[in-house]
Amino acid sequence: MERYPKPVAVGRPADAYCAECDSPMTGDEAALNYKLTDRKTTHILCPACLGKKLELPPHTLQEMIILFRKQRCRMFSPWVEK
Ligand SMILES: [Zn+2]
Repeated sequence: MERYPKPVAVGRPADAYCAECDSPMTGDEAALNYKLTDRKTTHILCPACLGKKLELPPHTLQEMIILFRKQRCRMFSPWVEK
């Protein structure tokens, strides 16, 4: 299985673990599951597994996370311009 290469956000513990491959993920990555599948799902997948299920490449999922953060969706951490 393809491993998702991005480490969990530096200095932050993982917020969730993938239900299929047990990879750690950030809260934003977990929130994407609620956005793209079911708001009440407990089957949280890492971007690699979620992307496989939805047939989307991981970088597309990352772009979606950034988009939702920029839209100030409450499920995601707020976007901060550098
Ligand atoms: Zn996974």
